[in-house]
Amino acid sequence: SETTSNAIPASLPLRNDLRGEEPYGAPQLDVPVCLNVNENPYPPAPDVVDTIARRVREIAPTLNRYPDREHIALRKAFSDYLAKESGTRLAVEQLWAANGSNEIMLQLFQAFGGPGRKALSFTPTYSMYPEYARDTFTEWVTVPRNGDFTLDIDAAVAAIRDVRPAMVLVTSPNNPTGTPLPMDQTRTLLAACEEAGVDGAPEGVHPILVVDEAYVEFRTPGVPSAVSLIDEHPNLAVSRTMSKAFAYAGARVGYIAADKGIIDSMRIVRMPYHLSAVTQAAALAALEHTDEQLSTVAHLRETREQTAAWLETLTYKGRNLTVAHSESNFVYFGVFDNRDYIFNELLRRGVLIRDVGPDGWLRVCMGTDEEMAAFRKAFVEVLAAAE
Ligand code: PMP
Repeated sequence: SETTSNAIPASLPLRNDLRGEEPYGAPQLDVPVCLNVNENPYPPAPDVVDTIARRVREIAPTLNRYPDREHIALRKAFSDYLAKESGTRLAVEQLWAANGSNEIMLQLFQAFGGPGRKALSFTPTYSMYPEYARDTFTEWVTVPRNGDFTLDIDAAVAAIRDVRPAMVLVTSPNNPTGTPLPMDQTRTLLAACEEAGVDGAPEGVHPILVVDEAYVEFRTPGVPSAVSLIDEHPNLAVSRTMSKAFAYAGARVGYIAADKGIIDSMRIVRMPYHLSAVTQAAALAALEHTDEQLSTVAHLRETREQTAAWLETLTYKGRNLTVAHSESNFVYFGVFDNRDYIFNELLRRGVLIRDVGPDGWLRVCMGTDEEMAAFRKAFVEVLAAAE
């Protein structure tokens, strides 16, 4: 059960534009099968838990002091991680971490957005972006994706030229659809940004491209990450997180790989000591066990392929379901003329999924084998009842 903000008294000087707003977030419900927030369903192994406890214990006697504001050890660890995961070696100055990639994004908006500035993105996409825009008084401009949720690259390039945004945000793989951004399109967007101007900024200023790779470890093995383009493109920022494939959502650690200039811009707006010593120690501890933390990714990828193939065999009111191509740990499927009914009937059977994005579509995140079996059983029942 959750509290709502409806108790805010009218006499409080809450910002005018925030009146009537609700705190955003997926429901946190106590149900047996939670497949709604794209977590990795497998908990840390006992030896990882031991390392986390040991490393946090080691720093505990220093907690009277502020932490390393620049979190150098953690940035080095992310450099090693990316070298291993994506084959690109970046310097400490090209990396930066925060409390989840949510905070990374907020710092980007604080540094590059603001009154008179615009951020451009391609919908449907991650529903938090417009909130960062609102909170930083940045104008939020969107261009629709194609029917299959791939990027309409011509429309995207035209919008970069015409809108003159300070930031272009693209999620790869996209949330909620799972759609990857092919490397040639990343390059095309970068080239468009390098040519475009920025409203509210002097001549000679160009937009930055932010690629949100929160789910990128779930991509087909061997496919390059946008991280490999950073050395050639000072206007590229690639956001990552430990919350998804790395199975560490509870620790709240996200990071960004970008040119030093972008990182230095974010350092201007960050809160002093934003990343606690406990968080830094816990993150470093888990990064000592990178292989173990990622050991379930291949299985979750297989689960995704099997789930997508299974959903495609099903019919709803006499028509086949449509399943979006996903390179992530979730699958987006539809089209239901009453998705609330499907969502609620699944919930009644103890299975929580997500009703986000265009009407008629639902998103299910990959759980354990047992959780997926429960989802399939419940979904077959719900579909039969809907006929
Ligand atoms: N980006 C995308 C696309 C996401 O889906 C999420 C989480 N749902 C995030 C960023 C934020 O994740 P975190 O703050 O846990 O790193």
